[in-house]
Amino acid sequence: MGRKEAMCAELGMYSEKYALPAETTQEELVALVEKLNCDDKIHGILVQLPLPDGLDEKAVINTINPEKDVDAFHPVNVGKIMIGDYDFVPCTPAGIMEMIDESGMEVEGKHCVVIGRSNIVGKPMSMLLLHKNGTVTICHSRTKNLKEITKTADILVAAVGRSHFVTADMVKEGAVVIDVGMNRLENGKLTGDVDFENVEPVAGAITPVPGGVGPMTISMLMKNTITA
Ligand code: NAP
Repeated sequence: MGRKEAMCAELGMYSEKYALPAETTQEELVALVEKLNCDDKIHGILVQLPLPDGLDEKAVINTINPEKDVDAFHPVNVGKIMIGDYDFVPCTPAGIMEMIDESGMEVEGKHCVVIGRSNIVGKPMSMLLLHKNGTVTICHSRTKNLKEITKTADILVAAVGRSHFVTADMVKEGAVVIDVGMNRLENGKLTGDVDFENVEPVAGAITPVPGGVGPMTISMLMKNTITA
């Protein structure tokens, strides 16, 4: 059983899993999403991404009823996040905000630096920090002087997808460092984007990988489903 299914079972939440064959066509996948859109037993639909080559991810996401879009990837929900009036937030940024809130950390007025601008993590993360009145800088692969920028971060979110990308010399003393990365090393070990061992002594607070952002993401998926 996958982790999402197991969490549903633990919470007593009904779930259906469709492990479709690789040769599934666009039409078949869209038809399944449409069927689930109309199924009153189903309140949340999650299409596991990325889809195999040949399938149009955007078209599939656009088929999901926005009210059942518990991943918050549908353009309607993306737009709602932009204007700050939303029901669902993409699960990874939502989990990070939950950690920040729970720890009593203030975002207002802080310099928040997000490394990564993906639709799944970087962009929504930046919007949520902005809605909390953080001063947000978004960095990406074309950013110049990355280290100079990250050095000024009070809150640093790393969503790059590269093991040990954030090193101690990139972090301000006492900064909050949130590691979104989930990188599989050749030996099978899971690591984040942050050089945890060397950054931890510099940081005021830091999330580990595994065990930090990852488990929060699944919890937020469950929360979005209950909201739906
Ligand atoms: P992605 O779509 O590949 O985005 C990576 C971002 O990093 C891009 O915006 C890219 O910039 C930027 N980047 C790459 N190299 C860089 C560099 N040298 N300097 C500065 N920025 C650089 O990845 P993602 O989906 O956002 O995921 C990021 C990481 O988070 C991955 O390890 C993924 O597995 C992990 N993740 C974890 C969870 C969780 O639940 N914990 C959930 C989702 C993702 P450009 O836009 O310029 O290419």
